[in-house]
Amino acid sequence: MDLLEHTGKSLFASAGLPVLPSRVARSPAEAQVAAAELRLPVVVKAQVKTGGRGKAGGVRVCATDGEAAAAAADILGMTIRGHAVSCVLVEQAVEIARELYLAISSARTHRVPMLIFSAEGGVDVEEVARRNPGALVRTPVDPLLGLCDYQVRDVVAAAGLGPELAGPDGTPAKQALAGAVRALWRLYRDSDATLCEVNPLVVTATGELVCLDSKVTIDDNALFRHADLKAEAHAAKEDREARAHEAGLSFVALDGDIGVLGNGAGLVMSTIDQIAAAGGAAADFCDIGGGARAEVVAAALDVILSMEAVSVLLVSIFGGITRCDEVARGLVQVLGHAGVDVPVVVRLDGNAAAEGRALLADAGIPGLTVAPSAGEAVRLAVAGAAAPAGPDARREG
Ligand code: GDP
Ligand code: MN
Repeated sequence: MDLLEHTGKSLFASAGLPVLPSRVARSPAEAQVAAAELRLPVVVKAQVKTGGRGKAGGVRVCATDGEAAAAAADILGMTIRGHAVSCVLVEQAVEIARELYLAISSARTHRVPMLIFSAEGGVDVEEVARRNPGALVRTPVDPLLGLCDYQVRDVVAAAGLGPELAGPDGTPAKQALAGAVRALWRLYRDSDATLCEVNPLVVTATGELVCLDSKVTIDDNALFRHADLKAEAHAAKEDREARAHEAGLSFVALDGDIGVLGNGAGLVMSTIDQIAAAGGAAADFCDIGGGARAEVVAAALDVILSMEAVSVLLVSIFGGITRCDEVARGLVQVLGHAGVDVPVVVRLDGNAAAEGRALLADAGIPGLTVAPSAGEAVRLAVAGAAAPAGPDARREG
């Protein structure tokens, strides 16, 4: 389970990592009150479970509480990479002297937690690895030994923080960094995280070390040990991925505009590839699984169509355990009543395909096309999608 930045920062604070005073706001008025309570200037930040908010305009520095209200009004209406913004974090702003990167991540190939540090934060670590490998530390943490002192020293050495960098309380930035690395390790271990990332971890103009961002993922299999976090996940009802999860769907929002619904991860992934090869971009990954009934299909449509970015819906089913007529019933159930304002392309093959196609033909849903093959369905969907915006506009830095 991914946590929002503000939840991650609460965990950071409890673990002893340095974070700035902040408040969550769900309306411009709340953002204004929050800004007035904090020391100005403040930063208003979109709370969505995706990176690249800065580049998407979801992070704004505001000099007054009025500006904070205006920024919140803009940001609360945004959809960032398929994620609608339903709340913002209003946080005291700082002047940044250095941006660093610090993370502990479960490295599947190494089967250990990996401590990753970069002396250049705020940018892609992959990019730093290519350009300036000396600025990067990647060190596996033995789960039995835990984090060792030499690993902390490696990070501090790579950071290259001079003695002149010290906070107002006199704590050298070097020492603060060592403390932060240890605190992040404790948090990762104690919260059953698979990822604890701070990007950027900054040294401010006054020499203080502060976590400006947080990205925390908790292992779903350990959520029973973290009742508080689980409760919060359930409280976020508007959260599309949580809703999909509840309905038993595998759903991931992507940044294109073609909504994809299929049965089986392999089929969905190959459909997404086919879309890309045909010059389109998928808006999501939605797998209804094998043997899905009409209600599950209806739930999947509900989730996908709630994404504003979707300009075409592509349904690709290869019926094995799944019956195509069940899927068709789900489509009729949702599209037949409410109707949708986007074109729908359907491909049905395999188990009960003929019955499914007949059901769709009888329903006569406006804007719905049954394609004769998977390839043709993709072609029709890509052709029907709105002209895609330049990919650079959506990519993360
Ligand atoms: P992300 O783009 O989703 O990773 O969002 P971040 O929280 O990392 O914010 C993006 C960028 O906004 C950071 O890299 C900083 O450069 C900038 N930023 C965030 N908070 C502050 C702040 O308090 N002061 C200033 N000057 N910049 C900030
Ligand atoms: Mn960030």
